[in-house]
Amino acid sequence: MNSNEFREWSLRAAEWGADYRNSLRERPVRPLVEPGEIFKSIDAAPPEDGETMQAIFADFEQKILPGMTHWQHPRFFAYFPANAAPASVVAEYLVSAMAAQCMLWQTSPAATELEMRVVDWMRQALGLPAGFSGVMQDSASSATLAAVLTMRERALDWQGNNSGLQGQPVVRVYSSDQVHTSIDRAIWVSGIGEVNLVRIPVAGRFRAMQTAALEAAIVADRENGMLPAGIIASVGGTSTGGIDDVAAVAAVAKRHGLYLHVDAAWAGSAMICPEFRHFWAGAEHADSIVFNPHKWLGAQFDCSMQFIRQPEDLVRTLAIKPEFLKTHGRDGVINYSEWSVPLGRRFRALKLWFLLRAHGLEEGLAAWLAREPDFEIVTEPMLSLFSFRHLAAAGVDLDEHNLRLVSAINDDGRIYLTQTRVDGQVAIRFQVGQFETTVADVDTAFEVITEIARSLS
Ligand SMILES: *Cc1c(COP(=O)(O)O)cnc(C)c1O
Repeated sequence: MNSNEFREWSLRAAEWGADYRNSLRERPVRPLVEPGEIFKSIDAAPPEDGETMQAIFADFEQKILPGMTHWQHPRFFAYFPANAAPASVVAEYLVSAMAAQCMLWQTSPAATELEMRVVDWMRQALGLPAGFSGVMQDSASSATLAAVLTMRERALDWQGNNSGLQGQPVVRVYSSDQVHTSIDRAIWVSGIGEVNLVRIPVAGRFRAMQTAALEAAIVADRENGMLPAGIIASVGGTSTGGIDDVAAVAAVAKRHGLYLHVDAAWAGSAMICPEFRHFWAGAEHADSIVFNPHKWLGAQFDCSMQFIRQPEDLVRTLAIKPEFLKTHGRDGVINYSEWSVPLGRRFRALKLWFLLRAHGLEEGLAAWLAREPDFEIVTEPMLSLFSFRHLAAAGVDLDEHNLRLVSAINDDGRIYLTQTRVDGQVAIRFQVGQFETTVADVDTAFEVITEIARSLS
């Protein structure tokens, strides 16, 4: 493919992407295909000669697209969301075009340094104390594996990587019986073994691990000559959203000198809102925390963030330094491949940077309207509700103008709003609670409100 064709097909792909997103509401969320149907439609042998992009693209549309499940569909309610906001998709186009391997500082200084920045932006956004550093992993599964390997190595006095687990005391890890299956796999892969993942029963509305039972299990294991290594607490379990009492679990971890990893892969995004932070109170005492901006927050997969209190332990567990990877004379720089199991790494920070800058933390409409000189925020966002009014020209009755505006907006049909009175004056209420509402829907609301308000003035 020459560079003109690359340009042409990149533009085609970008246009296709925008059209695709616009057409989602008209598509079935899950494809109506039988197993094997698509497999059969693909040639059994690879082509001998190159084909035109025309032909390849046509087959993509005819054979592949009908077999896709549309994860960005506004009516996708299965699993957990894997939101990919347009701003992060645009960043991914750029990352694909540059296709850099970002394993060492010197293999892309900007990737490493932007990653350091956005990890710290997220730390601040989630209300975690300074002193946590972090790394972007491909998935929560990888982050949890890295944490389990670190707790294993710390407990074994750093002997496991070299000597294996033979001849060592039996390593034990504790979690509730509500945790995600990625914890099981980390236990298998780390060689600890499923029988040594001790499942503590849960109680109460939040299905929280019973900390008395947790402590009893640790004490009993020690008495039996086993080696307690760490605890995995869950904030937002997969099946019913179970939430451990992280502060109580952290106190047990501290008393017994155990590593504490918190899995908040799905629910972590909610901790941007201070009113939800009580759900993970105590997380600031964890050794590591994983949360997935690629779920709820809108950063395109893969984008998992692991906060780490003591990165030296992680690096001691995972760093390999073959001669050709040594970056002589560059002491003090972070080489993020030493913080994760895979060596090669994509430039993941860019999409999160685009996303956070395009939307900010307040997510949207209230902030956008506040920036418009002819709008006034009447009540600041409270969970998912705020109110505003449009400032008409001098001499126009504001109450009357805003009531007319609400009617005109609702007659237009694209969005639906109601009014209220705040301190006796008319204000327009805006609340987001619909499950299928997307950032694009809020974009539309902004367009509709400003367009109609200005046409009335
Ligand atoms: C989604 C999820 C995971 C796994 O996330 P991946 O990034 O797909 O590995 C782990 N734990 C919880 C609680 C999750 O919701």
